Amino acid sequence: DLGAVVREVALELFPRAQAKNIDLGAEGSEAALLVEGNAVLLRELVKNLVDNAVKYTPRGGHVTLRTRFAGSPILEIEDTGPGIPDADRERVFERFYRVLGSGVDGSGLGLPIVREIAELHRATVTLDANPAGQGTLARVVFPRTHLQAPPAVQGDVYPLG
Ligand code: ATP
Ligand code: MG
Repeated sequence: DLGAVVREVALELFPRAQAKNIDLGAEGSEAALLVEGNAVLLRELVKNLVDNAVKYTPRGGHVTLRTRFAGSPILEIEDTGPGIPDADRERVFERFYRVLGSGVDGSGLGLPIVREIAELHRATVTLDANPAGQGTLARVVFPRTHLQAPPAVQGDVYPLG
């Protein structure tokens, strides 16, 4: 349940948001939004994106986590941080790449991990300008036919079993 994963991660990062006076909120129905995959990896994906949102958003900002179904399960994380310059929007998915002058410690590995986990789940992850104003909108779109994997043939290897 993607919604449950998001609520867990929100609770875990809540103290960090609170320490920066960031309003961290989750939106979405209480109904389960089922995604097939590896729960530990999906949690890691969500955590890395929320960690970035909280880390790069200055004090007093807003971070909104949203799960919804629009033809397929979608996760959105909106923040009111500095945004990611157009020229860096794809490069931030490269290992160790960090935007110059982001002013916060990091190793540049979070987003490459996010993309790899997304790919394992046949999901796409994109970063855009936050349409609500300043900041970033991270979006993960899961496939609609996720539960219809072909039957396993002996000897075949499926990445997520
Ligand atoms: P870590 O390995 O601890 O996650 P990191 O946060 O620097 O380190 P990534 O998560 O891969 O590494 O992010 C890469 C870079 O993209 C960041 O250094 C930052 O410059 C930029 N970035 C990522 N998310 C955001 C965001 N929500 N707002 C602004 N910049 C961001
Ligand atoms: Mg990071």
